[in-house]
Amino acid sequence: MNVLIVFAHPERRSLNGALLDVATAELQAQGHEVKVSDLYAMHWKATVDQADFPDLPADERLKVASASSREFAEGGLTEDVKGEQAKLLWADTVILQFPLWWFTMPAILKGWVDRVYAYGFAYGVGEHSDRRWGDRYGEGTMAGKRAMLVVTAGGWPEHYSARGINGPIDDLLFPINHGILFYPGFTVLPSFVAYQVDRLDEAGFTILSEHIRERMRTLATTAPIPYRKQNDGDYQIPTMELKPKLEKPGAVGFSLHIAGEKTG
Ligand code: FAD
Repeated sequence: MNVLIVFAHPERRSLNGALLDVATAELQAQGHEVKVSDLYAMHWKATVDQADFPDLPADERLKVASASSREFAEGGLTEDVKGEQAKLLWADTVILQFPLWWFTMPAILKGWVDRVYAYGFAYGVGEHSDRRWGDRYGEGTMAGKRAMLVVTAGGWPEHYSARGINGPIDDLLFPINHGILFYPGFTVLPSFVAYQVDRLDEAGFTILSEHIRERMRTLATTAPIPYRKQNDGDYQIPTMELKPKLEKPGAVGFSLHIAGEKTG
């Protein structure tokens, strides 16, 4: 299969860089084709602005969604954005790899999402009417493709546990897994998270390397996070609230959107 790794670390000789090499070598050993978007090496432009829409008249007020929609439809987006969109279409599996910075992805990766996820490509897809809110959350351009996060964190696993002070890691990563990956249609695999990495020694690196190799070997078979699809009947239209009694008693927040716990 074709695997795209979007890599967001400013130092190629970092732990993240070493894990990227381990993952890439394992994928290639399995016969997969790998492309890497090394965002810092590419000097990726991380902010959306007027320059992203070259055909927009200079005196026209920038409205990002409508400019994005028009340029995507007319093939007028910038070459760097079109190149990343082509890689996403080429990929069967997409991996976003990054160090956890301030509880989320580094700004350069968020900027990749902001610019590459054009209207008509990643959002604004499908029928929008009083009975349907488009093809999103499990449907859309990325339907049929798998995706996962590879994340390193300085904090301990306990800090990110259910009662940990940092908040549960699945909650912190929910906006990325559910909002950025599931939204345009990806099937989302559980994240690979390496904790307490700042004082990692050789023995720790060997263990981490084996864990990431195993995840690369099982990309096609790992059970995904069972997020509820928007258009499978679990949500009320048009408010898009989860229908009553579908959740585990007492469940609130992000966990409502994970299926497999129906009681009603
Ligand atoms: P590196 O610094 O490159 O390496 C980490 C360790 O691995 C070092 O001890 C190094 O010697 C060792 N190592 C590297 N390569 C190898 C190798 N090939 N073989 C053996 N050992 C190796 N953490 C959180 O938990 N939550 C946060 O919100 C958070 N916010 C942050 C914000 C900022 C701006 C920064 C700079 C850090 C933050 N951190 C946070 C910590 C951050 O997540 C970690 O520093 C980062 O994940 C470490 O990954 P790295 O690739 O930069 O590691």
